[in-house]
Amino acid sequence: MHNFNELFFREHQKQMRKTLPSFSKALFCFYAILACAHPFFVPPPHQWSMSLISGISAIIFMLCSVYVRHKDQQLSEKNIVVVICTMAILAIANTFLHLVLTTDLLQSTNVLFICVALSAVGFSIRAFLIFLIFINCSWLAIVWFFNLTSDPAFTHFVFTMIIGSFISALLARTRYKLLQFSVMEIMRRKDVETKLQVANNLLSKNANLDPLTGLPNRRFYDSFLKGKWQEVIESKASISLIIIDIDHFKTFNDDYGHQVGDEVLVVVGKTLAQCIRASTDLIARYGGEEFVAIVPNMSEHKTLQLAERMRQQISALEFKSKQITISLGSATVHPDQTSDLASLFKQADQALYDAKAQGRNRACHAKSDLGK
Ligand code: GH3
Ligand code: MG
Ligand code: MG
Repeated sequence: MHNFNELFFREHQKQMRKTLPSFSKALFCFYAILACAHPFFVPPPHQWSMSLISGISAIIFMLCSVYVRHKDQQLSEKNIVVVICTMAILAIANTFLHLVLTTDLLQSTNVLFICVALSAVGFSIRAFLIFLIFINCSWLAIVWFFNLTSDPAFTHFVFTMIIGSFISALLARTRYKLLQFSVMEIMRRKDVETKLQVANNLLSKNANLDPLTGLPNRRFYDSFLKGKWQEVIESKASISLIIIDIDHFKTFNDDYGHQVGDEVLVVVGKTLAQCIRASTDLIARYGGEEFVAIVPNMSEHKTLQLAERMRQQISALEFKSKQITISLGSATVHPDQTSDLASLFKQADQALYDAKAQGRNRACHAKSDLGK
């Protein structure tokens, strides 16, 4: 399962990277305006020092903006925290300097930026501006409505603090909800992806398996044989094919029904699979009551021995006190680029025909290497 906290953190960082540049630019603009406005609105003697402080702050915000824009996606988590802390500390320092130098609470509305910087940093510049306009319009309305002209600076400060904190909390909460929602969506999609992957794997596995015996099916046999054929050509090795056919299988169906016939097929498949080298060879159900074995790197003699071993193992099986026997036809070739893959099957099939003709329950090997 995907970890919610981990995904949440990653999504949060992604949003930070997106909004930090515009946020720092907004702070730069605001402090640049303050730097220009202070000489006109701050009472002497501190108007120039105030202007200078705001100007320096504006430059630092601008540097922050340029830095995050330049770094873009390479902006590390640590550096995001550093930039946010720098901006927050700058806003706090500005507020206190304003208070110390001017003792004018009206100037200390910079506190806004502390709240906003901490909560709205994941938001767009639009949300930030609406927030500012809302605060100032509300303040004007309240001063006018309650006729608080005696000490508007103090009212402004208190009002700004209360509303600022409230709206900051609201913004932070909305932002958390939005992030939570998108993380849940990501988790849901990843979950669907995983399930789809599992279903796909199962589907491709099933496409290659015979549902009755659980052995590889003809489709897999075809691709396996093609692959092995190329391999043995390159390594100049041999490849053997054994075709296995259950004798008089029809009588099992006729005497005991198809269900018993199916059980015989399963047992025969299992027994044959135990005879081969699992790492290199393949046993597949070719179709009906026929099986095939692909055995690379095995001499004609050893192949015939293997076929004989298979025959013996099967003939030891009994079903409803009826002996099961098989006939086998095998062929071995040392193929090269000019060899024909179909001829290998043809030879093995001919050998199987011989085994059947000679009375069944026997293994025959193709006479010569015609594959060349
Ligand atoms: P031979 O010794 O000449 O091979 O005779 P045989 O009876 O084995 O061969 P034949 O081709 O006459 O019959 C094969 C039978 O296998 C016919 C078919 O109904 C049966 N069969 C094929 N596929 C299945 C299967 O999946 N399940 C069952 N129960 N029977 C099957
Ligand atoms: Mg048959
Ligand atoms: Mg048969």
